[in-house]
Amino acid sequence: MNLYEIVRKHSKQIANTLKVLEELAEPSFKEFKTTEYIVSELTSAGVFEFTNLKTGCFGTIDSGKDKTIAIRADIDALPFNDEKSVYRHLCGHHFHTAALLETIKIIKKENISIGTNLRFIFQPAEEVVSGARFMIENGCMDDVAEIYGLHVDPELYIGEIYVEPVSVMAGARHFDIEITGKSTHAAYPHLGVDTIAAASNFITGAQSIVSRMVDPLKNAVITFGAISGGSACNIIPEFVKIKGTFRFFDEEVNHIIESKLKKLLDSVDVFFGTKSRIDIDDGTKPVTNDKNLSCKIKNILSNDRFTFYPSQHLSMGGEDFCFYNEFAPALFIKFGIRRSQEIVSIHNKNFCVTVEPLYEAVYLWLKILTAGV
Ligand SMILES: [Zn+2]
Ligand SMILES: [Zn+2]
Repeated sequence: MNLYEIVRKHSKQIANTLKVLEELAEPSFKEFKTTEYIVSELTSAGVFEFTNLKTGCFGTIDSGKDKTIAIRADIDALPFNDEKSVYRHLCGHHFHTAALLETIKIIKKENISIGTNLRFIFQPAEEVVSGARFMIENGCMDDVAEIYGLHVDPELYIGEIYVEPVSVMAGARHFDIEITGKSTHAAYPHLGVDTIAAASNFITGAQSIVSRMVDPLKNAVITFGAISGGSACNIIPEFVKIKGTFRFFDEEVNHIIESKLKKLLDSVDVFFGTKSRIDIDDGTKPVTNDKNLSCKIKNILSNDRFTFYPSQHLSMGGEDFCFYNEFAPALFIKFGIRRSQEIVSIHNKNFCVTVEPLYEAVYLWLKILTAGV
């Protein structure tokens, strides 16, 4: 029986794991039941060497080799409604978790010998970009020589993967702005300091940063996602709050956007007489695929069940997988799950994954592990 036939032998169990994880969908750092399920599945499979962090866990399948490679799966879900009372796996993290969990179970059940030790990492809280750091602080990267991860990609068809040695995910930073003015009657603006006019000028001015100040050959985006202030049509409000994010692949672009946002806000303050504050978080760095790992994986998977997506396929989305890269060379695989013409993006309320590509994902991990990268 070849490796793929072995995977298909476990089809029912794989489908069930995906279903169970889908139903458990929990918020970042509150993945208690999900972790409990992973832990119970690991112990049932005979894996006892792991650190249970209550949300998230990591451990090692020791094959007696010198080298340890890590595979990371994120486990958290996203709010489905504004009240945050219902959570769903709108980013497909249950797929990532099921793929790694089933890989481990099949290795144990089928007594498959792997070419390296496997450090499995079930990471919480990717959506709030804190989980990777949490896992690293708890020691998940100790003795790890290389790290791999995958993310479902609704634009790539089932069987297509993207493993090029480029920055596949953008650096992503978020900012909060508070503009303070002086409240007054709408009919007497000269007696106050207008925060809405200041905020509007700031947002309009910021549109020129990417289009006029960043090298047109470099990718960047600034988006304002929330603005609030005021309570009535005839009162100029004292405060306006703005939230936004910017994305980049290049450190110089990161610096330009950060400094220009601050300068623009300062100049708005000078002109309108407002007082403003901007907090920009550290966010994530770009996720950059290692050249050697990309080459190795292409060799292992060539002439197999996968096609390598031929065109450039970068994403302005952020990923906290970037932090593992500070400790070991990393490869983040964009993994096709698309079945038809229609594309439903991740984080969309209608996003869903089917089980067919999950068989391919389990096979992919088994193939890489048995090849002994
Ligand atoms: Zn997401
Ligand atoms: Zn995700």
